[in-house]
Amino acid sequence: MNGTCFICDEAKIVRQNRKIGELICSACYQREIKPKEVCTLCQVEKRVAVSDKQGGAICSACYHREIKPKEVCTLCEVEKRVEVRNKQGGAICAACYQRDRRAKLRATLQASRST
Ligand SMILES: [Zn+2]
Ligand SMILES: [Zn+2]
Ligand SMILES: [Zn+2]
Repeated sequence: MNGTCFICDEAKIVRQNRKIGELICSACYQREIKPKEVCTLCQVEKRVAVSDKQGGAICSACYHREIKPKEVCTLCEVEKRVEVRNKQGGAICAACYQRDRRAKLRATLQASRST
């Protein structure tokens, strides 16, 4: 329904929240009210990002560290977690991405200095 959110005070699509008995928009619900779960991997109570196959909650930090698929980096040819992809869709690891960024930055600095 349409109404004014109790938290952000904006006219939005809101829902009556049973717990506090006020109208809350979905953004504020996600941010302020949604119950947290304990991550099955790090055992820390957090907002969880994904569920594993068994339905266990996994926080985004653990997801990136443990679950995100690995691929062979197109630059260093080591199997690592993919940081970015190049235009061809090839995997680039974090180390190569950083190195590449630094190289570009240096080139930019040198170019600006020579003018
Ligand atoms: Zn709101
Ligand atoms: Zn975790
Ligand atoms: Zn690499």
